[in-house]
Amino acid sequence: MIISEIFRSIQGEGTEQGRPCTFIRLAGCNLSCRWCDTRYSQQGGRSLTIEELISVLPHVKGKYACITGGEPLLQRDELAHLAERLWREGYRIDIETNGTIDFAPVQPYASICMDVKCPSSGEESDLSLLSGIRSEDSVKFVVNDEEDCLYAEEVLEKYNIRGSIFFSPVNGSDYQSIACFVQEHDLPVRYQLQLHRLLGVP
Ligand code: SF4
Repeated sequence: MIISEIFRSIQGEGTEQGRPCTFIRLAGCNLSCRWCDTRYSQQGGRSLTIEELISVLPHVKGKYACITGGEPLLQRDELAHLAERLWREGYRIDIETNGTIDFAPVQPYASICMDVKCPSSGEESDLSLLSGIRSEDSVKFVVNDEEDCLYAEEVLEKYNIRGSIFFSPVNGSDYQSIACFVQEHDLPVRYQLQLHRLLGVP
């Protein structure tokens, strides 16, 4: 697998926000979002076998790992093997994806955290994938402005999403306006600031 980095931090987003976590960041991405904060992961990386990767994971009591990117599903076959291996070792696994590649093959072993790309990103997710979201998965709208909020509202009206739904303001956007939008439009979402940004950790 092509790995960008492996590190320990606090999970900053989603249903496990605040939990100590081992992050495995896979290299490579098929999108180029305007506000991407991990551009370094779009290229490069080092090649590790799954055994080598497992051997360098930090030895910690808590077995919670988040596999992210880049876009981890670009390496879907190996990702499924890795997720199965970690799952057999007792890990709870989250896989973060930009919502452009079918994630069904990894769902037996992991919760999916699917981004829905909004207009300000300059990119688009495949909304047909929302039908594959289960109650243990989640969907995240990364929103920057009112246009993004209105787009997200339209998607929420059109699709019956079974998992948890988050509104996550882009770092440095107008947090209060977005919170007001969620409240005034009574959206069925959880507003969530990126905890790792507030803490200044990776
Ligand atoms: S999908 Fe993620 S890693 Fe890829 S360009 Fe967008 S924000 Fe960056």
